[in-house]
Amino acid sequence: MTNSENPYSHSQSPIPPEVQHQLRSVLDQLPHPVPLYLFTKEGQNDIYNQAAKEIVRAFAGLGRNIELHEMDFDHELAQKWQVDISPTILFDPERYSIRFLGAPMGEEGRTLLEAVVLIGLRSSNLSEQSLKMIEKIDSPRVVKVFSSPTCPYCPQQAVSALKAAIAKPELISLEIVDIQANPNLADLYSAHSVPQTFANDTLIAQGAQPEELFILSLQKMEEQTVFIPDIDTELVENDLVIVGGGPAGLTAAIYAVRSGLNTAVVERDTLGGQVAITPLVENYPGFTQVGGKALVDLLVSHALEYVTIFQGEEVVDIETGEGITVLTSRRRFKTKAVLLATGATHKLLGVPGESHFSGRGVTYCSTCDGPLFKGKKVIMVGGGNSAVTEALYLHNVGADVTLVHRRDTLRSQEHLSKYLSSANIPVLWNTEVKEIQGEEKVREVLLYDNVTQESRTLPIDGVFIAIGYLPAVGLAQKLGVELTADGFIKRDEQHRTNIPGIYSAGDVEGGYKQIVTAVGQGAEAAMSIYEDLIHPYWLEQPGISTS
Ligand code: NAP
Repeated sequence: MTNSENPYSHSQSPIPPEVQHQLRSVLDQLPHPVPLYLFTKEGQNDIYNQAAKEIVRAFAGLGRNIELHEMDFDHELAQKWQVDISPTILFDPERYSIRFLGAPMGEEGRTLLEAVVLIGLRSSNLSEQSLKMIEKIDSPRVVKVFSSPTCPYCPQQAVSALKAAIAKPELISLEIVDIQANPNLADLYSAHSVPQTFANDTLIAQGAQPEELFILSLQKMEEQTVFIPDIDTELVENDLVIVGGGPAGLTAAIYAVRSGLNTAVVERDTLGGQVAITPLVENYPGFTQVGGKALVDLLVSHALEYVTIFQGEEVVDIETGEGITVLTSRRRFKTKAVLLATGATHKLLGVPGESHFSGRGVTYCSTCDGPLFKGKKVIMVGGGNSAVTEALYLHNVGADVTLVHRRDTLRSQEHLSKYLSSANIPVLWNTEVKEIQGEEKVREVLLYDNVTQESRTLPIDGVFIAIGYLPAVGLAQKLGVELTADGFIKRDEQHRTNIPGIYSAGDVEGGYKQIVTAVGQGAEAAMSIYEDLIHPYWLEQPGISTS
């Protein structure tokens, strides 16, 4: 089917008109043809077949060089390219070995967009560091990235794999597997949380990685956690580097640039921090109810009006001395100030079986993984706002969820607690999870009632954990930033740390840990940095120096 025959009228498109307009301005400029082949088999995954048709047709209608071919499994090309899962999308299959199994809905739309753009540009767009590492791969890699439409982390991992498959098509092939459309495949690989990445059927990454760490893991065929960039990376001079693209960092960026500071934001993971995986936010003024990811998208779009965001890039070191040097996985910033808005990471339960079954029934992201547990029995561990919000989300996506809380009262706001009881979600009070057991995946949990002091096992398919967060202070500690007794960054009213030029904002500082307080702290910190750069207090106070 050619674009002129595309039956997709403007009004039918699943892509909103304003987004269509933005996409067209990019997709219509692609210099090279983008052949897309959509294979479907009637009677096999029909809901996803239909969704895949709607999405790829909508995309194809937005770029003159996108050539959409729709065919069924009887077609000779299905045999030639060994297509046997419906729906399957192949991207320029004469040139690359890249396929998407499922319908690229929700967050996966970003992966589809990147695939079309990179193929239309005939460019992998890998960083120089990644290109150097990929050169070292000298044997085939069959890569599988498991993803879901509700996982904001997934496109980052899928796109890194996509870039690798474009850079080295002779050795690297890629399947992006939507776990909702392909639950059997997810079961086969025990991939019950996303993203998960396999190469030649070996697990090489759980969760999203910065691009360079992904390429290194692909090269070594084992998950890597440290990447040391070459010393000759690009040098960028500016006034302020903000580490972290959550609500605090993004708000600080808006304020800093509007004050006139030349600013960059560096974020290794998904933008928005924890908010991006919060199913529903009901206490952000101006919105009675807004999805966490929707709120993040608004924040990011606003910030992008002002600032460059280096997403998927990791700050590996910060040195103070003659000015401040921020070393990332791709460049070096010579800067005057650094704002640490690094947020927090989820707390672990710390019981036997937790790490073994992580990704195989144990998960910390209900928005990412919840839909896979539709119709299955799961527990949500915790009693705070996160656990209750996420238990409600799991209930709403059709999981049979029970809240397990170690005390007899919830910590969550009363409003949320009432929702929980009106949804009739059972709660196991005074109950602690002592062990998670199973074989390939979670089968049961060992529970302990701390009032009756009795133990019992509960058969279960999934364990969702939301028991709070720990501040992400690794960089701060490396720098010598003082911490509070609770492990948060210690700072003064101006958000200054003990090291001149280094500031903090958001959850890494502790306090109330609300989106609205993070936003306020980001704004305060940016204004304080601006004042300090005009009137450097460290030059005015004898004994304090940046070196
Ligand atoms: P939280 O408020 O610290 O609650 C953690 C819960 O997990 C508590 O109920 C705690 O039990 C339990 N817990 C902690 N360690 C445990 C362990 N080892 N075993 C079993 N249970 C354990 O954490 P959160 O709910 O993730 O919320 C974090 C922060 O984000 C809070 O300040 C919250 O208000 C905020 N938040 C804000 C929004 C929003 O702004 N819209 C949304 C969600 C969360 P105890 O009660 O016994 O201590």
